[in-house]
Amino acid sequence: GDEFALLLPGGDAQAAQALARRVHEVLAPPFAIADLALDVTARIGIVLYPEHGLTPHDLFRHVDMAVRQARKLGTGLAVYDPQLNPAPTQRLTFAGELRRAIENGELVLYLQPKVEMASGRVCGAEGLVRWLHPQRGMIPPGEFIDLAERTGLIRPLSAWVLETAFQLNKHWRQRDRPLPIAVNLSARNLRDESLPELIRQLQSDPHDGQGLLEIEITESTAMEDPEFALRVLHELRALGIPLHIDDFGTGYSSLSYLQKLPVDCIKIDQSFVRNMASSKDSALIVRSTIDLAHDLGRKVVAEGVETRQHWEQLAALGCDMAQGYYIARPMPSEAFQGWLRDYQPLATPPAAP
Ligand code: C2E
Ligand code: CA
Ligand code: CA
Repeated sequence: GDEFALLLPGGDAQAAQALARRVHEVLAPPFAIADLALDVTARIGIVLYPEHGLTPHDLFRHVDMAVRQARKLGTGLAVYDPQLNPAPTQRLTFAGELRRAIENGELVLYLQPKVEMASGRVCGAEGLVRWLHPQRGMIPPGEFIDLAERTGLIRPLSAWVLETAFQLNKHWRQRDRPLPIAVNLSARNLRDESLPELIRQLQSDPHDGQGLLEIEITESTAMEDPEFALRVLHELRALGIPLHIDDFGTGYSSLSYLQKLPVDCIKIDQSFVRNMASSKDSALIVRSTIDLAHDLGRKVVAEGVETRQHWEQLAALGCDMAQGYYIARPMPSEAFQGWLRDYQPLATPPAAP
């Protein structure tokens, strides 16, 4: 449906890259579909015959990996790199280990607070998963989420994260300190018909965290399969779950599309926040994202807030919430309530007129 192959007889890496760049140029302007201006992006992976494989099977497998690499790099273009292809047995072992890790409770949920800038009050936390591997120690999500997505393990993984978030809130509620927890979902989760059902089940316990779950999906996930994503997102919204668009600004979504999404909140990608002080472009993107989101009635979270300067600049721009090392690093969930108890609300300078 949305994958295409181009064959370039007699070409080399350079010719293939030139062609790929040309394809990007042609796809860059928005396409008018219905009354929407849809922005289409393509990720292009390149394989060379015979250097990268002698059989169609190998070439297709490797071009697939190159496409994935293109997505990961955010460049939209990558030539297959054999270095990135660990021996299949090694990857299979890792996948098997991950499956057992989910079953055996080797996953841990870290929490990072989100703070409302105007009051300095903690208004929620994001759940970030880690894998406490018996031999390798703590493995960050960047090293296994991709694998989970490709092996179907993202489904039990996300189910574990959701259940853990609900359990935490049940526990917190008993101590009168419930707080919304945001869970990250992958594109694959949105194609999983059983997901809204699982959430419905978790919500059905009256002592559980009704209204305390939030969902974050990245802008590119929302764009990947807009029609399908829209349906599931509306279903989740109907369950009363606030939706946040993560990594905003990295995915080229059009403003008109954004308006159609049942989204409550936009999270400005950390790269813009980080570069805000040094790059006029980044500062402009942050400023216009905040203004635009507010015009559309959405709230804005800035992530990657690392310094006092970031905080002040964002407060002056009217950003609603902040998350980042300046406030706190992600911490084990057991440490969170203690942190919350000791937390002194951060002071906000008066907003610029
Ligand atoms: P994300 O959702 O964009 O999460 C924010 C990442 O930025 C986290 O990395 C967090 O530790 C880090 N971070 C927070 N504040 C700062 C800061 O001030 N400076 C810097 N430099 N970094 C900061 P982490 O925990 O390694 O997670 C990476 C990504 O893994 C997440 O990005 C998310 O896409 C994915 N992920 C984590 N947990 C889950 C999960 O349960 N399910 C799914 N599908 N993906 C997850
Ligand atoms: Ca997130
Ligand atoms: Ca993010």
